[in-house]
Amino acid sequence: MRTGVFVCSCGPNIGDRIDIEKIAKEVSEIEGVVLSETYGLLCSPDGKKYLADKITGNSLDRIVIAACSPREHEETFMKVCETAGLNPFMMQMANIREQVAWVTPDKKSATEKALKLVRGAINRTSRHKPLEKTSIVCNPEVVVIGGGTAGMTTSLLLADADRRITIIERSPSPGGSVTLENEKLVENLSAKVAGRSEIKVITGLEPEEIVGFFGNFIVNLGKDYDEIRAGAIVLATGCSKDESGRAIASEGFREMAEMLRISTDQDGFPAREHDSLAPISTPINGVYVTGCAGGPCSLRATVSQSEAVAGTILSSLIPGRKVETEPRTSVISETLCRGCMTCMEVCGYGAISFNEEKLVCHVNSVLCKGCGNCAGACPSGAIRAQHFTPDQIRYQMAGVLR
Ligand code: SF4
Ligand code: SF4
Repeated sequence: MRTGVFVCSCGPNIGDRIDIEKIAKEVSEIEGVVLSETYGLLCSPDGKKYLADKITGNSLDRIVIAACSPREHEETFMKVCETAGLNPFMMQMANIREQVAWVTPDKKSATEKALKLVRGAINRTSRHKPLEKTSIVCNPEVVVIGGGTAGMTTSLLLADADRRITIIERSPSPGGSVTLENEKLVENLSAKVAGRSEIKVITGLEPEEIVGFFGNFIVNLGKDYDEIRAGAIVLATGCSKDESGRAIASEGFREMAEMLRISTDQDGFPAREHDSLAPISTPINGVYVTGCAGGPCSLRATVSQSEAVAGTILSSLIPGRKVETEPRTSVISETLCRGCMTCMEVCGYGAISFNEEKLVCHVNSVLCKGCGNCAGACPSGAIRAQHFTPDQIRYQMAGVLR
C-alpha cells in the first residue's frame, strides 16, 4: 500500500484554525503512508498540478485529501486522480473545513478532531477498491406526453431534425382542448403529425412507469405493451380549471410529476425553484415542460416554449453522445435475498426489479444512483452499496475512534 496524504490550508480557512503541519507529521507515521504534506490551495490550478505530480512521482496507489467538503471538490480531485492514472475511487476526502475549522474555535481541539478524521480516512482507503466507470450511448428518440398544440408543435419541430418521436395521448385522439382560438391550428397540426413517419401516436393510454435519466429513459405503458426507450421526455399535458375557474395542473400532469418526482406548487404546476429553470426545464435533467403543463399560458407562448424545448433537446441530446453511469451502485446477493421486495419500495429511481423465476430482487446498475436507501432497508443484509461497504465504514470508524 502506498498512501499519500495531502492536508490543504485552504488559504486561511483551515490553516489559521488547525495546525496542519502537526497533522501531516503525525499521520506520516501510520503504516502505508509514504507521503504526507501540506499545501496552500489544492483546488487551484497549481494545486491540482502539484497533486497529480505527487501521485505519479511517488507511485501512490491511494490518497487522502484533508480539505473542504466533498460536496465542493470531490469531483475536482477525482478528476486529478484520473489524469494522474489513479483510479478516482482510491481517493478519500476528510472534511476538516466545514466539519472542523469552521465550527471548532479552539485550535488545539480543532487539530485533534481533524487528526481523527484524517486517520479515519486513511484507514478507510485501505479497504477501497477501484471502481470502473462505464458509459452508455444516449438514445436520441423523444417521448412527448400529451398530444395537444404544445405536444404536436414540439414533435413536428423534432421530426424536422430527423428525430423519432412517440406521442402518448390519454384521450382517444390527439388535439387536446380545442378552443375557438386554436381550432384551425389544431386541425393543421393534427394533419401534419398524421403525415410524418417519424412521429408515432399512441392514444387512449398513459405511462404507468417512467424510469431512467437523461439519454436513457424507459416508459412503460403496461403489461401488454413494449416499453418505449427515449433520451428525453416532454410533458405537454395542458392544464385544467378548478370549480372556481382557477387554472390548475391537469390530472395527467400531476400523475407524471409524481412518477418523475418533480416538485410542484400549490396548484400542481412544476415548482420554479430557480429562475434559470423557467419556463421549460424541470429539476430532472432530460425532462421538459411546454405549454399549459407548466402553468397557464397563451397560444403564442405555447408555440415559443415548444420551440425552446425542441431546440434544447436537439442541442443536448446528440445522437452518438455517451453519458457516464454511476459506478457506486448497489448490488444484491441472490443467496441472501429472501424476496421481500422492501428494497423496491424504498428505491426512488425504479432501479430494482423482482425476478419472478428466482424470487429475488435485482438492481439495474444503469438506473441505480447509489443513494444507498435499499442497503439500509434490506432486512436480510443482502444489499451491498459499493464504495460504502460495512467494511469500509467499520475501518473508517476504527480510525476515528483510535
Ligand atoms: S430488501 Fe433485501 S431481502 Fe428483501 S427483496 Fe430486497 S434484497 Fe431481497
Ligand atoms: S442504491 Fe438507491 S438508487 Fe440504487 S437501487 Fe438502491 S435505492 Fe435504488
